[in-house]
Amino acid sequence: MIRSRDHPRYESLKIREKLVNGFKAGIVCAEGLIAHGRGEAFDYLVGEKTIELAMESTRVAVATLSLAEHPVISVNGNTAALVPDEIVHLSNATNALLEVNLFHRTEERMDKIIDHLKMHGAANVLGKDANARIPNISHERAKMDKEGIYKADVVLVPLEDGDRCEALVNMGKTVIVVDLNPLSRTAQAASITIVDNVIRAIPNMARLADELAKSPKTELERICASYDNKKILEKIIRRIKMI
Ligand code: ATP
Ligand code: MG
Repeated sequence: MIRSRDHPRYESLKIREKLVNGFKAGIVCAEGLIAHGRGEAFDYLVGEKTIELAMESTRVAVATLSLAEHPVISVNGNTAALVPDEIVHLSNATNALLEVNLFHRTEERMDKIIDHLKMHGAANVLGKDANARIPNISHERAKMDKEGIYKADVVLVPLEDGDRCEALVNMGKTVIVVDLNPLSRTAQAASITIVDNVIRAIPNMARLADELAKSPKTELERICASYDNKKILEKIIRRIKMI
């Protein structure tokens, strides 16, 4: 056991352990572990908690998913390892389809992640039939499902790569990302950026989706009405600079 509850970095160590277990199970790839390290550094800068500005984006993201015609949640290895129950919960609460979509795609890892999500209660998971392509993205990284991300009007892609995020926006989709780095291309290119740790943001989204489930359409539209992603990012960057 590498951790004890009284360790000051208990939460962070617990998250690392989840990712390492995911890596050993073939769900997380080696690059995913490194990407998490960059995320941890930025988590320090926001105080390792959900800041109010992130909560604002989270609320708008949930309302946007709930209003969508064809919402899809894209799941990668890190997300599947860190928040499998909550991502399935969010998908049920917002009627969003789940699609496994990997930057470092192998069929073996696809199968493992799909099985993992099903073990955590997912009824249906897309991604195996990679029968459509994101334009202007190189072959393996461009694969997606015709009935899933390709058809989506709103897509939640926690931890997306900057290139693919831009390409999805260029396809006319509303793209919601979770990224702790407000300066990254992903954060800057997305329609709605939640600057928070996936480990906190996805449970927050699942809880809010339940809370907003009975809200009328007009209330959801009111939540989204004056949202300005660039302004939120500017405010977060200013906040970090003032530390
Ligand atoms: P780009 O500028 O192309 O978007 P990047 O710096 O975001 O590149 P990536 O390899 O796409 O680098 O992904 C790593 C990023 O993912 C980190 O910068 C971090 O902000 C984010 N990240 C990693 N783990 C988490 C996490 N658990 N929660 C939220 N964000 C995370
Ligand atoms: Mg990125």
